[in-house]
Amino acid sequence: GLFGRGGRAVRVGILGGSFDPPHAGHLRMARLAMAQLGLDRVLFVPCSSQPLKGAQPSASPFHRSAMLALAVSGRSGWVLDFRELDRGGPSYTAETLESLRAQSPRDLFFLIMGSDSLESFGQWRRSQDILALSDLAVVPREGGGGPPPRLVGGRVHTLKAKPLAVSSTAIRSLLVRRQSIAGLVPKAVMVYIERQKLYAAPRGRRERRPI
Ligand code: ATP
Repeated sequence: GLFGRGGRAVRVGILGGSFDPPHAGHLRMARLAMAQLGLDRVLFVPCSSQPLKGAQPSASPFHRSAMLALAVSGRSGWVLDFRELDRGGPSYTAETLESLRAQSPRDLFFLIMGSDSLESFGQWRRSQDILALSDLAVVPREGGGGPPPRLVGGRVHTLKAKPLAVSSTAIRSLLVRRQSIAGLVPKAVMVYIERQKLYAAPRGRRERRPI
């Protein structure tokens, strides 16, 4: 429908990322944004590839989607959106927002990102179009101390929260060293990573295990 309860516009958070793997930091961002901005929904949008990141995601789109489904399942209002994977190629947020806008002309959009992402926002393709399509909801992140770019006409909501030092990169490197990631990802995601043997060191470089 066009309107949520009480006749007000539906407020939709959009959380894009590699989710390689999804972790507690991502889920906390969604919780913070929902609570502080009164969102009705959060869309989790796994990217195909991120233009500003040097490396391609390590896990396949299939595994990243499966992990994300496990991570968000059971939360009302949290939904997966696969349009960037369907589109393929570099994932440009402006295109994603335009396609969402075409589907939902009246919803209010809040693009949820870490403060590290905000720092590079000036380099995003068509960043001014992004600001015309959505507000930004920024979650403080450790090391994100640089000055935010000048945002002409954009509305930026800085969410109140202590930085939580968790990243997919740190989780992948713990897994390569066969160290525990307990507490950093939801239990179901941890089990999935173990069963599917994701992010393990290549054969031969792995430590020998007793038979
Ligand atoms: P990587 O370590 O592989 O770069 P990541 O942990 O940053 O991954 P992404 O999926 O690339 O995870 O991030 C998606 C969005 O979530 C980005 O806007 C990023 O800034 C934000 N984000 C991820 N982790 C946190 C965190 N701990 N605190 C605040 N923002 C975060």
